[in-house]
Amino acid sequence: MTVRVEHADVIVVGGGAAGLSAALAAVESFAAAGRDDAVVALVSKVYPMRSHTVAAEGGAAGVVPGGDDTLDQHVADTLAGGAGLAHEAAVRYVVERAPAELARLERLGMPWSRTAEGRPAVRRFGGMSRPRTWFAADKTGFHLLHTLFQTSLRHEAIRRYDEHVTLDLLRADGEFRGVVCHDQRRGERVVLLGGAVVLATGGYARAWATSTNAGIVTGDGLAMALRAGLALRDLEMVQVHPTCLPGSGILITEAVRGEGGVLLDADGERYLADYGLGPVTPVGAPEPRRMELGPRDKLSQAFWHADRDGRTVPTRDGGVVHLDLRHLGKAFLDERLPLVTGLARRFAGVDPAHELVPVRPAAHYTMGGVPTTAQGAVVDGQGARVAGLFAAGECASTGLHGANRLGSNSLVETLVVGRAAGQAAARAAGVGAAGSGAGAVGAGGVGEAALVDQARGLAERWLAMRGRGGESPAALRRELGAVLDADVGVYRDADGLARAAAALDGLHERYQDVRVADTSDVLNTDWTQAIELGAMLAVARGVVAAAIARTESRGAHQRLDHPQSDDVARHSLVTLGADGAVDVRFEAADTAAQALAAGGGVGQGEAGA
Ligand SMILES: Cc1cc2nc3c(=O)[nH]c(=O)nc-3n(C[C@H](O)[C@H](O)[C@H](O)COP(=O)(O)OP(=O)(O)OC[C@H]3O[C@@H](n4cnc5c(N)ncnc54)[C@H](O)[C@@H]3O)c2cc1C
Repeated sequence: MTVRVEHADVIVVGGGAAGLSAALAAVESFAAAGRDDAVVALVSKVYPMRSHTVAAEGGAAGVVPGGDDTLDQHVADTLAGGAGLAHEAAVRYVVERAPAELARLERLGMPWSRTAEGRPAVRRFGGMSRPRTWFAADKTGFHLLHTLFQTSLRHEAIRRYDEHVTLDLLRADGEFRGVVCHDQRRGERVVLLGGAVVLATGGYARAWATSTNAGIVTGDGLAMALRAGLALRDLEMVQVHPTCLPGSGILITEAVRGEGGVLLDADGERYLADYGLGPVTPVGAPEPRRMELGPRDKLSQAFWHADRDGRTVPTRDGGVVHLDLRHLGKAFLDERLPLVTGLARRFAGVDPAHELVPVRPAAHYTMGGVPTTAQGAVVDGQGARVAGLFAAGECASTGLHGANRLGSNSLVETLVVGRAAGQAAARAAGVGAAGSGAGAVGAGGVGEAALVDQARGLAERWLAMRGRGGESPAALRRELGAVLDADVGVYRDADGLARAAAALDGLHERYQDVRVADTSDVLNTDWTQAIELGAMLAVARGVVAAAIARTESRGAHQRLDHPQSDDVARHSLVTLGADGAVDVRFEAADTAAQALAAGGGVGQGEAGA
């Protein structure tokens, strides 16, 4: 099989906010070291502007200097949301850098909404004790991604590999040194070799049938890490967003509640006070952490109870409650929430200025991921650094979100950790060394032949899927989504999880015979979707195994049969055995945080990165 071999100093897999931030930071590091020959490869399975970051609506969290908000308060809110699994040093690392990162983005062209006095406008988000979410109307992700992407266009050192599906990571002598991809447009296999790899492949929430995520958010990077023998952390921590359109799962951002929207049951009552979120706040005057601005998990749990109490309105897509924005008025909605107003019109057929918007929960954000330091250096199950590999964005578990992410903390994480990971990757690739592909594997360098062989073997295995099989991938995907929706949602219990595990084992078996009818090399979406399905299945099996093993309720993982939290907060670590079996073990969160700090992670050497 022929492969095209190319070299770069740093390889970034992912063209969303985290990947672009990492690529820009790596290029700046090389430039600062006088390396004008450096190459940063940016690989994305879609055109970067189609990365899922583009869909983010509400905003990015950061303390506005000079107001009554403080960094300590942002840290405290984030730790409270994390329910014992967030690492304080990692939270501090991101929170302290957030304001400067958001201001930096503005200098690059980000059109943050502003107050009449010209200061950055901030809105309230659930679980935050102060309004601190910077926004660009309700199209924050679109503008943010545009800003980063357009900035990346200025750098010739960033060599883009658009519409290249990365199949697997390459490793030699224990160090990650590259990736093997498929160029969908040219129909060629590409082996990219370099000094360091940054994974920025996003989350895995599209595995659920009812999801706010785009079809591309399929956990590919996590599945690659699993296949490479790495552990994944806290996979069972999956955030369910309380307000999404029925059927499509399209998100109606929390910002609408931050701006004063209220939730009503079938009788038009503000039901949240009956489920522990009271006391009732005045309509149009939201207060931090109460009623509609309670934490997301609590709102989704309240919906679950209201549904069982017969307080929702039945639809063919399940029960719904109503979001009432009518009191905000058309002019305000047009100015501050134009995107969700349009989404409600187009996808629910209602005009929020005059009508109620039907909503129900959907899988939204995945806290689990590849364990890293706060600066994005990947660590193994024992907390030791993994040479040559970095991760940032939703695919990483940095210790910021713990068991439950606070809304608007993730965009800022993509910027801060993406940047740190890019800088660290440049250092790992020998930032100061001269010559193209200056990492340990230069063009024709030692180890190249072995890596190319490894890439060939991996690609052949993937290619062998084409033109065979009897199991419909669409059916497998549908069943996967339905299993997760039914038994791995807001509340879980032993029976439901056992049912899910058995069903996923069955799907895993059937996947070995998945049908890929199209045998072509160019734009073979049959094949790429089957690869994505494999990634979702692998990660979903890890989610369910960890959810079974975690016999407590914590953050986004709520067990009806184990409603209490354990005294000691522990991370789950999932690995894949050679026989394909999923293994789960636990590690105390304190121990993990201390090991990272002791190993030169948070707060040491790289803290200024
Ligand atoms: C609807 C919605 C609204 C949200 N709103 C907010 C918000 O207001 N504030 C906030 O803080 N967070 C929000 N979030 C979360 C936030 O948007 C995401 O966590 C964040 O954008 C993820 O960025 P990322 O760079 O990690 O991944 P993504 O933007 O998902 O990018 C992943 C990249 O990896 C590439 N990739 C994946 N697999 C492969 C492969 N096999 N080969 C090659 N490339 C690959 C993709 O092509 C893509 O370029 C929202 C999420 C959703 C779903």
